[in-house]
Amino acid sequence: MSGEQWAKQRVQELQALLQKASIAYHVYDAPMMEDSVYDRLYRELQELESAYPQLITPDSPTQRVGEKPATQFQTVPHRIPLYSLENAFNLEELRDWQERLLRVLGRSPEQGELDYVCELKIDGSALALTYVNGLLERGATRGDGQAGEEITQNVRTIRSIPLRLAVTDPPPVLEVRGEAYLSIAEFERINQERRSAGDPPFANPRNCAAGTLRQLDSRIVAARKLSFFAYTLHWPEGWGAGDPPQTQWECLQQLKIFGFSTNPLSQVCRGLGEVSQFYEQWRAAKFPYASDGVVVKLNRLRLQEEAGFTQKFPRWAIALKYPAEEVPTRIRAILASVGRTGAVTPVAELDPVPLAGTTVSRASLHNADRLRELDVHIGDTAIVRKAGEIIPEVVSILKELRPADAVPYALPRHCPECSTPLTRLEGEAVTRCPNPQCPAKLRGQLQHWASRDALDIEGLGEKLVAQLVEKLRIHTVADLYYLTPEQLQGLERMGSRSSQKLVQAIQNSRQQPWERVLYGLGIPHVGVVTAKTLASHFPSPDRLAQASSEEIAQIYGLGAEIGEAVAAWFADAEHRQLLQALQALGIPAAPAQEVPAVARVLAGQKFVITGTLPTLSRAEAKTWIESRGGKVTASVSRQTDYVVVGAEAGSKLEQAQQLGIPLLTEAELLALDPTAEFGDPHHRQG
Ligand code: NAD
Repeated sequence: MSGEQWAKQRVQELQALLQKASIAYHVYDAPMMEDSVYDRLYRELQELESAYPQLITPDSPTQRVGEKPATQFQTVPHRIPLYSLENAFNLEELRDWQERLLRVLGRSPEQGELDYVCELKIDGSALALTYVNGLLERGATRGDGQAGEEITQNVRTIRSIPLRLAVTDPPPVLEVRGEAYLSIAEFERINQERRSAGDPPFANPRNCAAGTLRQLDSRIVAARKLSFFAYTLHWPEGWGAGDPPQTQWECLQQLKIFGFSTNPLSQVCRGLGEVSQFYEQWRAAKFPYASDGVVVKLNRLRLQEEAGFTQKFPRWAIALKYPAEEVPTRIRAILASVGRTGAVTPVAELDPVPLAGTTVSRASLHNADRLRELDVHIGDTAIVRKAGEIIPEVVSILKELRPADAVPYALPRHCPECSTPLTRLEGEAVTRCPNPQCPAKLRGQLQHWASRDALDIEGLGEKLVAQLVEKLRIHTVADLYYLTPEQLQGLERMGSRSSQKLVQAIQNSRQQPWERVLYGLGIPHVGVVTAKTLASHFPSPDRLAQASSEEIAQIYGLGAEIGEAVAAWFADAEHRQLLQALQALGIPAAPAQEVPAVARVLAGQKFVITGTLPTLSRAEAKTWIESRGGKVTASVSRQTDYVVVGAEAGSKLEQAQQLGIPLLTEAELLALDPTAEFGDPHHRQG
């Protein structure tokens, strides 16, 4: 397919999808996708259309503001059109915008910095208000910018919109614009109510606000507490005794005089330096309402007028959006990556996209089930999210944008590294390479062993590890300690000095304590914290090897899964061999201090816990009792030995009193074990 043919198909698909999304969003207040996904697809469409202008159609989503108004309400033309705002997704795009603005204004940077007003971009619904002789005459939605829906009845229910301007000599006609919005608390309350009534909840406060404004029953609108921030004042020409406002900042002040509420965080900023400070200051902040960015407006009205408008946007204002958590991008290829435990993870290679502050070019597809569920094809447009995790993941596929030549993908049957047939245990989501000698596994293990929280061997990175496995035939982590500088010198990018340094670093790591060695072994479910806990209870590899899974599971903070994983690891003959090889090298070095075993002083006794204890959580109190042989049950009966009572105890306290069961405070409970000292990990562990 030629470039243009491909572009034509993509433009048509994007137009169709965005049109559908736009109607779902503006007319039905029920978005099909995240705004950030819409924005990026929209940007792609814009770019394709500007490269191939012949593909632009008059009904393309890039050619219109909003959607045509819904029909329940009367459509009214706006006296002054309402524009949308151009978006910038980062500071670089903001600088580009300023450059274009300077060009339009015919200004050179030497003429000094421009003043801007920065306002929070409130994620609500735009309203156009008309006052005649000081009285609210009409409230309308933005609609398509030229005409909106007349919703005056509903607008009257909004308390922060004055029905009468707070001045004694009002202008004959006044136009005010601003954002109707819902507080997050109110949004959540409404959704709670809808859920209880069996109605679908709104996707976000913006759709909820827009949906509320277009309610036919004004009583419902009144019950949902909409608020309003005014941000645009169209000063009636020739009106008033004093000077008309010269700047956006003065307009905001005048709006307050008229009795409107304006957002208190608005600020005049000199140049983009101060604008970016404003943006950085607020981008991670939590407000009681939804905000999706900062609106930057040229302050001086005369300059605004000079800059003018494009078909859709004012040239003198832009919305600088906060970084997105979810974006669409194309899957170029999919690789099966084998980790140190042999787990095979499908990883999508992506067209690089900015996401939550970094550029992302790979995302996890998790496992075979997830691949099937998503029905992933190579060439698809995927939605990628970074949700607290460092590694982004593919959350869904936009099937509407699937090209005809997209290729379905399934995990290979054989290990891409060693060709061993892959296995998948029943009930497990993970596909694994069962070959203990698989070079990918070995590389992963060596890297983990050398990592900072494990043996911390500086200079032993990914590329070098690959060479050690391939060229020097290293089989286990113990083999590292026999490497000589001469052997290393034969490898790529290893001179005599770096070889000596590395050998020294490897030898130094023999001094690392048992807890780091334990973490470095890479036992499933044993992270840094668990390794520390285990090492403090079992101060040598031998002691841990002798422990049963139950014994491990009983330790505060561990549990059955870890107990089983550790016991299974030590039961493996190869692992025992490895431990012997390490011990012969004097690894681990010094034994950790042993924590004395806890006496089972509460053996056979039954406890019930009720209310909030002063220092221990319920779970901690339960563990404290159980690690001393006691049992904790949920309800009080004659078999109960003690009821531990905290603040705001409920009916269990009454039951205990009726049955005459002894009551304990937290302090009295802890006193049952006289051997427990402060700092005892069974007493309290945060
Ligand atoms: P916009 O929301 O990006 O920006 C313009 C709007 O910002 C104004 O109309 C106004 O309502 C609002 N605003 C808030 N605070 C403001 C302030 N202080 N000063 C000026 N304006 C302020 O653009 P838009 O044209 O209203 O709508 C496009 C947006 O709708 C896009 O961001 C897109 O993500 C979203 N959308 C999403 C979907 C979807 O499927 N999720 C579909 C269509 C559109």
